[in-house]
Amino acid sequence: MQTVDLLIVNIDWLITVDADRRIIRDAAIAMNEGSIVAIGKSAELTKIFSGKRSIDGRRTVAAPGFIDCHLHSSFQLSRGLADEANAQSFLFDRMYPYEAALDGDDVRISATLAAAELLKHGVTCFVDPGNYHPEASVEGIMTTGIRAIVSRSSFDLTKSVLGILPERMIESTSVALERAEAVLARYAKPGNPRLGASASFRGLNNASDELILGLDKLARQYGTLLQTHACFSYSTHDSSVARTGMAEIERLEALGVIDERMLIVHSGWLEPEEVAILAQRKPSLVCAPSSSLHNGYGNFLFGKLPELLALGVNVAIGSDHASSGIVDMSQEIRLACCCYKETRINPRVMPPETGLEMATRNGAKAALLSDRIGSIEVGKDADIVLFDTARPEWQPLINPVANLVYSATGDSVRDVFVAGEQVVAGGRLTKVDEAKLYDEIPIAVARFGKHLKLDQMVQLRWPVS
Ligand SMILES: [Zn+2]
Repeated sequence: MQTVDLLIVNIDWLITVDADRRIIRDAAIAMNEGSIVAIGKSAELTKIFSGKRSIDGRRTVAAPGFIDCHLHSSFQLSRGLADEANAQSFLFDRMYPYEAALDGDDVRISATLAAAELLKHGVTCFVDPGNYHPEASVEGIMTTGIRAIVSRSSFDLTKSVLGILPERMIESTSVALERAEAVLARYAKPGNPRLGASASFRGLNNASDELILGLDKLARQYGTLLQTHACFSYSTHDSSVARTGMAEIERLEALGVIDERMLIVHSGWLEPEEVAILAQRKPSLVCAPSSSLHNGYGNFLFGKLPELLALGVNVAIGSDHASSGIVDMSQEIRLACCCYKETRINPRVMPPETGLEMATRNGAKAALLSDRIGSIEVGKDADIVLFDTARPEWQPLINPVANLVYSATGDSVRDVFVAGEQVVAGGRLTKVDEAKLYDEIPIAVARFGKHLKLDQMVQLRWPVS
């Protein structure tokens, strides 16, 4: 018998999302030193392996940990502050003032809460587009056990057609690049296997060509992602055309920065020429259903992600931010699949298998982590979620992929493992004192709220006594 750190046995259904998309009944997973060393039938693996610790997977479905490819960890305290706002107002009246009001402590608490919510909903890795206190984000994130790619946010143009950024968020191009490099130098290196860094500009309309080219150079130098939001509404599209004469993807193409290292979030408003550029250059794209649905961006009405998937472009999923409500990848997958069916009036579009691929192996590719995560297979890191199927929404259990995408929510997550470490057990975080965290949140809201016109931001329409 070979002794391993952890053996999960008697798993009813194991959805590997491996190269052959194998689904194994009555399965077991053997993990050692953070990696998966064997998967197979429980009856066979228990003859070969004995676990220092063993977990019973009866009445569970196992799947790879979800990879949320777009989540602003500093926005977790913005629930209720940015409702019923169009793209321009959402950014310039709500989120940018909110962000400018945060101090390092607020960001640490927000990031801890974000990671906590992600883990409890089965996300084992997320990509953060960045903020102005990345060290505080890391401090919070790393207490939870989640994997993350962090960034420093970059803007160098005060004015765009859409509005004027708060002074605190504006930097000169050279300062923005210097600070972005400091984050890359600190975090984009081997050493902490759960942490990585990327270069990031928030969007095209407040970024100069020099900033975008400088960040692209840094991303290449450090071998990391280059992230941006693009084409998320008619406003950003129109603003780009008005200022530069080019649509957003056309501008990125003219700058020569699009390739497979690039992560472009939203891509919901695309001109035909932009579709052709994306199909040729093959960056990874992120579908962010909730933010479009909550703010009415039209990304499903006008989006071309099913076509881009068919053209071989890698598309992942992101839950974006708590100001849109849910941070639950199971629900985001369902929305991604179902909203395209609705807008195309075609149930054949976006089957659940595609949705699950987007949230797992496509996400790993988008995060440049395909060699380590995104599927349950031997040699990969043991990032695994067990869903509790002894719940009404999982019954009857005939097709586990369909149930996972169409019926389940993240509330049925029972156990979560990151690099073989159990970070959620029985639906509770193992490394975070949740009660203490929830006590800290009103203190942070009172602190940053002093800098905001909360009475104008909060849309409480019913009397409160
Ligand atoms: Zn975003």
